[in-house]
Amino acid sequence: MSDLKSQLYKELEIKNASSVEGIRVNPAIFKKLNFEKKYQKQIHVLFEMDHDHHVGIDFPIGFTSPNGLKLPFRWDNRSAYSIEYEGGGYYLARKGEELFPIEFLSRPKYYGLKTSDGSEMSHVATYTREGTIFVAYSNECSLKEKGEDCLYCNINSTKDTYGEDEGIFWKQPKQIAETAAAAYKDGASHITITGGFIPERREVDYYIDVADAIREHTGLDDFNGTGVIGAPLDLGVIEKYKEAGYRTIAMNIEIWDKNIFQTICPGKVSSCGGWDHWVRALEHAADVFGHGRVRSNIVAGIEPKQSTLDGVEYLASKGVICFAGAWCPNPGSQLEGHRTPEAEWHLDMAKKVAAIHRKAGFTYDQLYDCSAAPTGLTHDIYKIEDGLLPVFNSKAA
Ligand code: SF4
Repeated sequence: MSDLKSQLYKELEIKNASSVEGIRVNPAIFKKLNFEKKYQKQIHVLFEMDHDHHVGIDFPIGFTSPNGLKLPFRWDNRSAYSIEYEGGGYYLARKGEELFPIEFLSRPKYYGLKTSDGSEMSHVATYTREGTIFVAYSNECSLKEKGEDCLYCNINSTKDTYGEDEGIFWKQPKQIAETAAAAYKDGASHITITGGFIPERREVDYYIDVADAIREHTGLDDFNGTGVIGAPLDLGVIEKYKEAGYRTIAMNIEIWDKNIFQTICPGKVSSCGGWDHWVRALEHAADVFGHGRVRSNIVAGIEPKQSTLDGVEYLASKGVICFAGAWCPNPGSQLEGHRTPEAEWHLDMAKKVAAIHRKAGFTYDQLYDCSAAPTGLTHDIYKIEDGLLPVFNSKAA
């Protein structure tokens, strides 16, 4: 393995561990960061991913490692990892020892713009890096009314905690389309539309309206969109997303073990026909959208590792790309205070998932087109192995 590759794998190991364990910081050191013009700050659009709430305190969304991996910032003052400020610069440390200097992620241009109705575009769509934007049209999930929220999910608690302070709101198709047009003008090339369940599962009409508006405002017939939905009871609905212009579709099964799924995702059982139907929906979607054009996700760390890998492998054999991002026991979820597996467990999982994707013939572009953010560990492994990071060009030049 080349020196650069082995250096990148070391950075990946640190990225994984500091994401899983979180990062300790004295928030006062972030007061020097210019979030109005230069750096991208966290805006709560769906889930709080910091390990504690931080109402009224701004945090950066993430930072880069020396060779260009993007690391998320997740606050946890119990962690051995920390960000320190010294001599005008910031660095990442472990147990007080510097690991490397860091640069915070920049603010995209559209964050300074407003929609025609005066809404902040930064609150309509989050920039999820490398040309991807992310819209959570609804910041609440109607499963709450039935007491059937997924146990790892904190969507409703995040809205209750930050809704007033950060002005979390339902996004209208025109707001989304204007924001997408501004971001695409500035180089963006992928949009994810997602949200919690809405009453009576009427989301398909909304997704069609959003797609129509995006096409009108961007002038693009294929705007490279991913519609993230719950498995529809009527599988015929899946064709409608394709006809509406979405290039890819996502249905996150979250847990592969059928019995654990029933306990962890009671609302997905009662509203979406259960585990068997969810798997059928994914297989049907692969027939409609094609190989590598359907995505699912498993919350890695709730069930045994082999069960998750069995799921990733089975879905890959059907042409479905299934990620297995590390479970973060989010504040406000019913599993708050639980522990996710150790960092090494998650790194091993990411490597095995990437190997399964390779074996199934999924390309990096397919991973990119169906993901909410192209900065997960599986993406990184592809980038390292295929030489897709800018550092490979700069070192070769
Ligand atoms: S369906 Fe489950 S994971 Fe999705 S928003 Fe509702 S509670 Fe959260």
